Amino acid sequence: METILLLAHTEEDGSLARPALEALAAARNFGGELHVGLVGAKVAAAAEIVAGAGAARILAVAGLPFAQPRYSTDAAAAEAICRASGAPIIIAPTTSRWSRALPGLAYRLGGRVDTHATAFAIQNGVPAVTRWFYRQRMEATLTRSQRPWIVLLDAGCVPPWSAAPGSANVEPVAVNVAESRTTVTGTRSPEAGEQTIRPDAKLLFVAGAGWTKKQGDGATHTAEAETLILDFLRTSQASLGGSKSLVDLTGEGEAVLRFMTHLNQIGQTGATPRHPKGLSTCCHGEEPHAVGWRFIGQRRAVNLDANCGWARGKADVLYVADAFEVMREVNTLLVG
Ligand SMILES: Cc1cc2nc3c(=O)[nH]c(=O)nc-3n(C[C@H](O)[C@H](O)[C@H](O)COP(=O)(O)OP(=O)(O)OC[C@H]3O[C@@H](n4cnc5c(N)ncnc54)[C@H](O)[C@@H]3O)c2cc1C
Repeated sequence: METILLLAHTEEDGSLARPALEALAAARNFGGELHVGLVGAKVAAAAEIVAGAGAARILAVAGLPFAQPRYSTDAAAAEAICRASGAPIIIAPTTSRWSRALPGLAYRLGGRVDTHATAFAIQNGVPAVTRWFYRQRMEATLTRSQRPWIVLLDAGCVPPWSAAPGSANVEPVAVNVAESRTTVTGTRSPEAGEQTIRPDAKLLFVAGAGWTKKQGDGATHTAEAETLILDFLRTSQASLGGSKSLVDLTGEGEAVLRFMTHLNQIGQTGATPRHPKGLSTCCHGEEPHAVGWRFIGQRRAVNLDANCGWARGKADVLYVADAFEVMREVNTLLVG
């Protein structure tokens, strides 16, 4: 069995976030000797977690230059760890930080990288990656003979590792970091009144363009739509998704849902999140949108049109109803 190295960057407090714990669980399930490489300002808490998971070696690049995500320092740290470990198989969580740095790492090591894996395990005696292609329409299983082989595992595919931490013996790894020209001065995110994307939420609530269209009385009711949706999100803690039509309208500065950005878009040219349940409202359920629902466990939709896309095998339950009326009632029940 080949040795597997988990690469993880740590959080501010030195611990591991959920995607890293999921990749740790996948690395353990893989079998073989487990090495762990940690990168961050502090690594002590993470080292204890991975010690509890039975890591045979814990290699770390720690210190302030490695606190911030930055290609030059991240790739250099990951490269030094991979060379010190010598593991032929490397697994890492799909975070924006690793997604930027690890393809370059594969080039530096003369290896290969696969991104957006949904599973990584031994199949028919060889390591195999499972991933989706063509915006989640086809699932494929791949093997590779080249080593080192780096695999970025998508979040939400494996239950995260959780067990008592152990006592860690950390091997510090020296990195020769050339003077960096990049300084992170802060983070600027799209203007959104409040955080509406919650990857860990049990429910995905999708709003479609219907919320901004003229209703039965011949008028639009955008302000009420905003209130209904925000009230629901606050009480249910659901994650908010949008159809392309709706987020495009918002991007044009129209008087629409102000908290909706392109980051909320679900579908072929948007995101494919993982949630146990989904509720679509005022959204037609066309294929380019519904393809983003591939990993939603149970799908329900509210639409005035009994002949909408959801009715054609895309939803488990379609409520033919006015979403304004439904959400008013749901919100009343939730606060009551
Ligand atoms: C190359 C390509 C890529 C695309 N990628 C994406 C993508 O990633 N994501 C995506 O979403 N789309 C994508 N689209 C667009 C997609 O095909 C649809 O145009 C879009 O999803 C429609 O958005 P919608 O359902 O919100 O709006 P509409 O089609 O306008 O539907 C609005 C719905 O609201 C309903 N409605 C109105 N009022 C109410 C009410 N009071 N109660 C209940 N229901 C009501 C109406 O019956 C209607 O079904 C893509 C298209 C192309 C060509």
